[in-house]
Amino acid sequence: MARKQKTFLDKIAKGTGPRGEKCPVCGEVIQNVMIIRPYRTQDGTWRYERQMASFCKCNEKEVFVDKPVIL
Ligand SMILES: [Zn+2]
Repeated sequence: MARKQKTFLDKIAKGTGPRGEKCPVCGEVIQNVMIIRPYRTQDGTWRYERQMASFCKCNEKEVFVDKPVIL
């Protein structure tokens, strides 16, 4: 019954897996993820911008600040 709730970052880590490259600052393994950010064009339609992002403890708050969809 007491099933551990997976956090947002747990799901990401499961999808990408560690690459073995460690950040020299925080010592965490650097994760590479695809981020899709929706944005609105001038004619009112929604588009999605894809970008690769690398994150660790140092910048994860900045990377995920907009709560983007992760693939
Ligand atoms: Zn770091």
